[in-house]
Amino acid sequence: MSKRDYYEILGVDRSADDKEVKKAYRRLAMKHHPDRNPDDKESEEKFKEATEAYEILSDEQKRAAYDQYGHAGVDQNGGGAGFGGGGGGFGDIFGDVFGDIFGGGGAGGGRSRSSRGSDLRYNLELDLEEAVKGKTVKIRVPTQVKCNPCAGSGAAKGSKPEMCGTCHGAGQVRMQQGFFSVQQTCPHCRGQGKTIKNPCSSCQGSGVQEEQKTLSVKVPPGVDTGDRIRLSGEGEAGAQGGPSGDLYVQVSVKEHPIFVRDGKNLYCDVPITLIDAALGGELEVPTLDGRVKLKIPAETQSGKMFRLRGKGVEPVRGGASGDLMCRVVVETPVNLNKKQKDLLREFQATLDKEGTKRHAPQKHSWFEGVKSFFDDMKL
Ligand SMILES: [Zn+2]
Ligand SMILES: [Zn+2]
Repeated sequence: MSKRDYYEILGVDRSADDKEVKKAYRRLAMKHHPDRNPDDKESEEKFKEATEAYEILSDEQKRAAYDQYGHAGVDQNGGGAGFGGGGGGFGDIFGDVFGDIFGGGGAGGGRSRSSRGSDLRYNLELDLEEAVKGKTVKIRVPTQVKCNPCAGSGAAKGSKPEMCGTCHGAGQVRMQQGFFSVQQTCPHCRGQGKTIKNPCSSCQGSGVQEEQKTLSVKVPPGVDTGDRIRLSGEGEAGAQGGPSGDLYVQVSVKEHPIFVRDGKNLYCDVPITLIDAALGGELEVPTLDGRVKLKIPAETQSGKMFRLRGKGVEPVRGGASGDLMCRVVVETPVNLNKKQKDLLREFQATLDKEGTKRHAPQKHSWFEGVKSFFDDMKL
């Protein structure tokens, strides 16, 4: 939308002096002021338009820039004058033009120098089972809430914050540095636009108090380390009645004694005996839903991975469940008595009779490889 000419908006000549500009703005602002035209969008727009035009034309430098370059010369961010925002210019206009009508400062528009509260972070540690199945947890978070006795104003009962004398309520001051006019946060009130002479004894004037609150956090199934859950508006209270920040619950999942998680898949090692590995059999393996049977074939080698489909994790962002990968690890028998050792030796002898190539092909080919390696070296 192309902007209208500022002179046209105010209905003044290009040669109009400060007085005429102010008078024109005052007439328009009186007519369209939001307080006089509640819920009237058109009036609000006209009011904003006139305010923006006045902000430019009442400022000598801005007006010169506008006269020379048009809107391009004065638009800093395309948004024009910061109505209701932290722009600063608006407050100056109010004090200037409406000082006698609306009680000075920014009282007319109900402006406030409120700011949004900080976001908070809470580190939530979960067991793997809790992370996978989801859980509602109660957490206690330290938080700053609006001070009750002063209703967040920071001023003692019966008193009110007063307009800052340095910035006249704008929260910002202009400093002239050579050609540049630099806008700075008012050092006296630190941008609040007001000062508190008689601070509230409960909050020492900050308007907020620290409190512990208990929150119920619904952890959805499938979360993993690094995921975070946002609790909108549960962060720190805003200053001077501003909106609260958000609370981010940062999830970390504890190490599990059996399972290792990688995304939606779970991994676990299952020790098996030499005999089970050789003859095959049925093993009992753990899943997060309890035990299941896993058939392993005869001649299973140590390290072989078996996949249990769908026994992994259902991803928090949707999609098919992952798998449980069971890696069997052959355990060498320990604490053998003499008879058991003799039986093994006897057993070994029967294998040797037929040669390693038949019963231990891996060992056989490995030795062949090692042999040729040394043979080659002899050259
Ligand atoms: Zn100030
Ligand atoms: Zn207080």
